[in-house]
Amino acid sequence: MSNEKLIEVQNLKKYFDVNNSNIFKNEKTLKAVDGISFGINKGETFGLVGESGSGKSTTGLLMLRLLSPTSGSVYVEGEDIYKYSKAKFRKMRKDLQIIFQDASWALDPKMIIEDILTEPLKIHNIVPRFEREKEVKRLLNIVGLSSKDMKKFPHEFSGGQRQRIGIAKAISTRPKFILCDEPVSALDVSIQSKILNLLTDLQKEYSLTYLFIAHGLNVVRHVSNTVGVMYLGKLMEIGKVDDIYNSPKHPYTEALISAFP
Ligand code: ADP
Ligand code: MG
Repeated sequence: MSNEKLIEVQNLKKYFDVNNSNIFKNEKTLKAVDGISFGINKGETFGLVGESGSGKSTTGLLMLRLLSPTSGSVYVEGEDIYKYSKAKFRKMRKDLQIIFQDASWALDPKMIIEDILTEPLKIHNIVPRFEREKEVKRLLNIVGLSSKDMKKFPHEFSGGQRQRIGIAKAISTRPKFILCDEPVSALDVSIQSKILNLLTDLQKEYSLTYLFIAHGLNVVRHVSNTVGVMYLGKLMEIGKVDDIYNSPKHPYTEALISAFP
C-alpha cells in the first residue's frame, strides 16, 4: 500500500437526457452522477455503496472511459484519461479492467473457456503466441479452476465458477485497476465469501487497485477500509467503514445500514 493515488475522480458529472415520462416529471435531465470527487491509492480498495439507481455503475464506467462525462475528469497516475493519445488509450484498455455482477456479460456463450481467455492475451500481446496455452492454464489455476475445464463452454459452469472465469479474464491483461461492479450480488451467500477472498488474495499478490461496488456496507467491509456512500448521483460521505457504521453522518447512510446491516 502507498499514499500515491492510482486513480482520481474530480467533480465528475454524467447527465442523461430523458423524456418527460420518467418519474421526475418535469425534468429532462437525469443527473446520474452529479459532481463527485474521490481518489484511490495504489493497492487499495475504495468501496462504493448505495441503493439501485444511485449512480454507482455509471461512475465505474466513466472511470474506465466506457462512457464520456458531461463534465469533470478522471486521472490515472496523474494523467486525464479523456485526453489520452490513441496509443495510450489502447494501453489503458489493458490496465483498467472490469468484473461484472453477471460474469456472462464478459463471457461469450459460444466460445470455449480456452478461447475466451486467449483472446485478451492475443489482443494485448501479453505473452508470446507459443506460451498462450500455458498462460490460460496458469490463469485458471490462479482462480481455483482446473485446466481440464478449458474445453468447456460458460454454461457448463456454476455461477460461482463463471465468476472465477470472469476474474481470470480480468486479470489476464495484468491490469493495475479493476472495477468490481457488484461481483458477488448474484451469488449464493456461501460462495460470496470465497469470491471475496479470491479478490483480496489477488489484490495482495498483484498490487491491484479496486473500485468495489456493492449495495450495502456488509459486503464492502470484507474488502475495503474506505467507503463512499452514494445517493442520487452524489457522494453523501466518505470515510472508514467502521466510522461510518458507528456514526453515520447522513440519514441516508443510516437507512442504508439498516437495510444492509
Ligand atoms: P446503480 O449502479 O447505482 O444502480 P446506475 O449508475 O446504473 O446506478 O444508474 C444511475 C441512474 O442513471 C439511474 O437512474 C439509471 O436509470 C440512469 N441511467 C444509467 N444509464 C443510463 C443511460 N444509458 N441512459 C439513461 N439513463 C441511464
Ligand atoms: Mg449498478
